[in-house]
Amino acid sequence: MRIDIFDADEFVEINHLKEVTSPIMFQRGDIPDPQGLISNEIFGFTIKDRKETFAYCNLYGHFFHPHIYKIMKRFFRNIENIINGSYHYKISKDGILVRDEYDGETGIEFIYDNWEKIDWEKSEDGGMRNERIDLIKKAKKNEIFWTKLPIIPAFYRDVKSNSHGGGETIELNTFYQKILRYGVMLKERNLFDFSFHNLNYNMQNALVEIYDYFKQKIEKKTGLIRKYLMGKSVDYCTRTVISGPTFHANRAEEMIIDFDHCGIPISQCISLAYPFMLRWVKNFFEQNVFNVQSLPVVVNGKIMEQELRLKNPESYFSDKFFTKKFNQYVRDPESRFEVVTVPLETGKMMPLTFTGRRLMKGTSEELSSIVNRPMTWTDVFYMAAVDSCQDKHVMVTRYPVSDVYGIFMGKIRVISTQQTEIMQYGTKKYDHYPHIDVTKSPEDIAASFIDSCQFSNSYLKGLNGDYDGDQTTMKIIWSQDANKECAELREQKQFVLNMTGGMIRVIGNEASQTFYTMTKEFKQGKHRVISSVETVDLLKLHRQDLTFDKLTELFGICYDAETKTQKTPRFHCSDKLTIPKGTYGNNQEPIVTTVGRYIFNAILYEGTPIQQIVGYVNSTMEDKAFGKVEGKISDGVLTDTLSVDDCKKYIDRRDWLGFQFHSIVTTSFTPEVIQSLPEVVKLREELYKKYEKELNNHDAKTMSLIEDQLIKKTMEILKDNPGLDLYISGARGSVGNNMKNMFMCRGAVKNPLTDDWDIVKSSLNDGIRQEDVPSCSNIILGGAYPKSVATQVSGYISKQLLAECQTEVADHDPNSDCGTKRGIKLLLTSDIANKYIYRYIVVNHKLVMLTKNNIDSYIGKVIELRSPMACLMTKSGCLCGHCVGKFPYMFGNLNIGLSASKAGTTLTNLGMKKFHNNVIKYKTLNPSEMLI
Ligand SMILES: [Zn+2]
Repeated sequence: MRIDIFDADEFVEINHLKEVTSPIMFQRGDIPDPQGLISNEIFGFTIKDRKETFAYCNLYGHFFHPHIYKIMKRFFRNIENIINGSYHYKISKDGILVRDEYDGETGIEFIYDNWEKIDWEKSEDGGMRNERIDLIKKAKKNEIFWTKLPIIPAFYRDVKSNSHGGGETIELNTFYQKILRYGVMLKERNLFDFSFHNLNYNMQNALVEIYDYFKQKIEKKTGLIRKYLMGKSVDYCTRTVISGPTFHANRAEEMIIDFDHCGIPISQCISLAYPFMLRWVKNFFEQNVFNVQSLPVVVNGKIMEQELRLKNPESYFSDKFFTKKFNQYVRDPESRFEVVTVPLETGKMMPLTFTGRRLMKGTSEELSSIVNRPMTWTDVFYMAAVDSCQDKHVMVTRYPVSDVYGIFMGKIRVISTQQTEIMQYGTKKYDHYPHIDVTKSPEDIAASFIDSCQFSNSYLKGLNGDYDGDQTTMKIIWSQDANKECAELREQKQFVLNMTGGMIRVIGNEASQTFYTMTKEFKQGKHRVISSVETVDLLKLHRQDLTFDKLTELFGICYDAETKTQKTPRFHCSDKLTIPKGTYGNNQEPIVTTVGRYIFNAILYEGTPIQQIVGYVNSTMEDKAFGKVEGKISDGVLTDTLSVDDCKKYIDRRDWLGFQFHSIVTTSFTPEVIQSLPEVVKLREELYKKYEKELNNHDAKTMSLIEDQLIKKTMEILKDNPGLDLYISGARGSVGNNMKNMFMCRGAVKNPLTDDWDIVKSSLNDGIRQEDVPSCSNIILGGAYPKSVATQVSGYISKQLLAECQTEVADHDPNSDCGTKRGIKLLLTSDIANKYIYRYIVVNHKLVMLTKNNIDSYIGKVIELRSPMACLMTKSGCLCGHCVGKFPYMFGNLNIGLSASKAGTTLTNLGMKKFHNNVIKYKTLNPSEMLI
């Protein structure tokens, strides 16, 4: 796109624009002033005229084009002082402006008159300054200086009547009025010099204001260009906020939103599957209304003999009528329980009746007598949505898409009201039928609907999303072929694994804490050893028996309404238990474990192929421990020991247990962890005194050592306090960062001005002392800056990497070899070893593939790695199988270049981490190890 400097005067001349001269909008009696900004005489009477007619106002002098003025201020700040008359300048023989308060001149007309004489000095090292000067030098004088300002057509800034009976106008008119008023004053010219210059200065700034007003309408994310010209709104597509699914299912298999199904509200299905919905609804009315032409009269649930004749239903229920109803349903949630009525020959409207059977949860037994109530549009549209979407997939996208995980396909589950029931209508059973209560007040109806999209939490990591208002774009796939492709895509390994073979569908936070609490160590004195009778009872319970109700019964503190007493839980997760030989997966030795660990294993792994791989998990799921177990599962999928389907089922069980059981077993905080402990405060003061000299010298290392001691002391005191679970489990925050800042001390903070460390001795709980306010502000800045800038920079790097590497494809033949003699020399350490499994290295001129079994023998050694970077390419122009290694072939994705954006994502995450963490870490570096 090319944007030119606009010649305002020329525009006025060639279009024969009329002049607006009066700053007054209305005359008496609310008639537009004939010379004013909304004059009928100038802008016309008809809408067409008022939309198309420009006008202008005279500036009575020469003023800089606002864009030029802004640029000029960048390289010659004093231009402001010349326009407002406070600095005087002379022009030297070389055309350079030289300040001279005695012989110099001032004012914008001085600049205008001498414009050709002035030579703007360029800087020698090039850069922006020179570009700006070039622009000004190349522009014509009549482009740089304006004497007239165009006024946009009245239609776009017309006065609208407001609710108070008065008229309202947009901000733009007040800017125009300002210019007109200054114009009137400049026209007189009978001013003192200083007020004349000042007026010119105001006029120039008013022009900039108008320029900025239009600019902000056009630029950036919400501007016209990005929103309407570059942005695309697609038909039959929705964009909505996402929200977390609710967990209130008795079993993992009963969840309304699971790994397979995304929840889409009825109102969005109407947009997404519009033609299918319309056909269904038309069909429905054809069968239930048109074909009948008369309806039985139902009184108190009994069908009477008398029948009512319908009046011409075919013409009443037209396509247009349904479209109107669809739109109403989307836009006006309060109307969703509106009853469906049909016209009778008598001229009255008669409601349709809904007859269904409500079924019991779990079993399919009938719960109550037949449901007999008026049919609402929610009934019709819900059934239409379910039938229209049942064989289709939805494509969910969260921008920016930097790799394959930015988009995913899911099956569809129509979501409606918060409460659902199992309903049978005709021969079809609906497991999540909306709960319809026609007696509800309109506000309650609107609030009872879920109107945001939902999907399994485990997709968030791949999308890089969360629930703080993130939006996704959804589109339902219509054609059968495309749906078949979606189904195949969901079966691929890369649907559950990330590009390095780890699990991509992970969860954290609440679930981590649940698993940690469930698997915590047995503590003598705190927990008990359960009896042998209880052990036998407990070991009888397997996954199918362990419903949420059962878990609540075993671990929950229940309130007995009859006796008005609290029932203590039967078990505590850390109670000790011994599983006898041969009872869990044919165990050869008795397993000493805890009740929580048994339940954890029984629900997640027992009786599934995963059990063969992970065995009995008998350790505390602290911080990263759970990830290690999941690493075995993802390895299983990669090496074909586990199927993708096994993995998906596991994901549902994991999410259900992790999120739903959370409220039963975990502790959020205890009083001890939300206060500054007196012992720690005492120690802190002692240490401050002891190291007073170092701290006064801004010694950050000493401060860091003090912090370590305070943390150590805190941990000693709190030890087994359940309030620490949140931190230790890795769910949220950490003791060393969040808890330390809150209750111990803020510590050393980098001061960007002095380049030294400020020591903030108090904690946030103590409050911030006045002298520490600047340092604490620096912390905020130090966090927020990388968050915004690093995100911006690394986001662009991701896109560059993708653009650069997208053509890098591995050869179809895993045994292909380009025969390169070059490799990369690399010191293999245990930290990075995992990343090189299935890659080839050269040992004694022979190729060896690194595997889990042999990699340990190379750790600590310098290996010569075959790498795509040294590949000579195969005949088909692809990277050879030996340079890329075996992983892409096992993973099932040969487009390895598409994973290059991972480097950008890693950088983004590092930038974000800085925002959340202000721990200072010390490392000893040995230069001789670093220099290669
Ligand atoms: Zn090669």
